[in-house]
Amino acid sequence: MKFKKILAAVAAMSFAVAALAGCGGGSGSSSSSSGAKTLKVASSIDFAPFEFQEESQKDYQGFDMDLIRAVGKEMGREVEIQNISFDGLIPALQAKNVDVIISGMTINDERKQSVLFSDPYYQSGLTMVVRDNEESIKKFQDLKGKKVAVQIGTTSAAEVKKIEGVEVKELNTPADCFMELKAGGVDAVVNDRPVNDYYIQKSGATGVKALEEKLTAEDYGIAMGKDNAELQKQVNEALKKLHENGEYDKIFAKWFGEKK
Ligand code: GLN
Repeated sequence: MKFKKILAAVAAMSFAVAALAGCGGGSGSSSSSSGAKTLKVASSIDFAPFEFQEESQKDYQGFDMDLIRAVGKEMGREVEIQNISFDGLIPALQAKNVDVIISGMTINDERKQSVLFSDPYYQSGLTMVVRDNEESIKKFQDLKGKKVAVQIGTTSAAEVKKIEGVEVKELNTPADCFMELKAGGVDAVVNDRPVNDYYIQKSGATGVKALEEKLTAEDYGIAMGKDNAELQKQVNEALKKLHENGEYDKIFAKWFGEKK
């Protein structure tokens, strides 16, 4: 009897967490009905158009959000998404609080020491944003002696630190970085190209421009625990299916237009 009560409490709690987390699907059906385990996903919801939240909307939106919901569907698992700051994502995975990370996360050797990555699902790279009237910064090497804002824990932070003579300001989110640029606290923001482009084109940002030069080419991957090769296999199989059945292309077109 007591055990049943505890079970009911746990079920109610996880349902509340799922609702709070703005989980996908929107059907409201609990995973227990199908017997499948919920796929717990962590993402730093500050990276439009990959993961973001609009005030009027309950569910998280973006390319990654649609992709991971489609992956979950292929795997027959309910998807529950938690918003965790970017530098807290890998620790959350290591603590087994979540099963996977999808967060525009670049596959690199350093991270491979602590996580397993899926096959690449998006080709990205780093570019920079400066103020409209900026004349002295045209390429990355011009950053010498300049102040640059980057999101903490990202490849941008790591790469900009490699450029000699740059004063690096590490902030919590890309939005904080753009604000700092507009306020004159830094001379440039280095961040992922699609996010910079979206910020300039879609959010109607004024007074700033994105530069063309790419500092790196990077691939995004879905991350899972070091000891979870089985899950890695399942995620890769789901991604493969989504490529084969056209679902990946549909999601891609929704956020980035038709593939060139
Ligand atoms: N792609 C970059 C990285 O993996 C930035 C990701 C992000 O800020 N969400 O470090």
